[in-house]
Amino acid sequence: MKTEFSVRTTKREEMVDITSSVQRAVRESGVSSGFAIVYVPHTTCGVTINENADPSVRHDILLGLDHMVPQLAGFTHAEGNSPAHIKSSLVGCSLQVLVDGGSLVLGTWQGIFLCEFDGPRTRRVIVKVVPD
Ligand code: ZN
Repeated sequence: MKTEFSVRTTKREEMVDITSSVQRAVRESGVSSGFAIVYVPHTTCGVTINENADPSVRHDILLGLDHMVPQLAGFTHAEGNSPAHIKSSLVGCSLQVLVDGGSLVLGTWQGIFLCEFDGPRTRRVIVKVVPD
């Protein structure tokens, strides 16, 4: 079973905590044990799991990615957003998360984030929950 929700991002780059929306999709699937695939069908955003306690971590991840992927004079993609495409590939467009007892198996400090690299835009998040 597949469900989908949308996320309206508000900045050029940001990490949006989508953990509760993914958890809702897992609950609505009725699957108690298995795994969930979280997928974004986009080329300039991604999904990742990281700390959701201190917002500085999100800030620092985005800053670190900026240093890893600067805008280079040699880029040829006419849209001008090659850093966003590269960051999308580095972060990845899908995740697998274990499901147990009808809940996502996440560590105390872990959250699921949509990583926007070329916003603001409306992004689709597809969740497929696969039972054991
Ligand atoms: Zn582009």
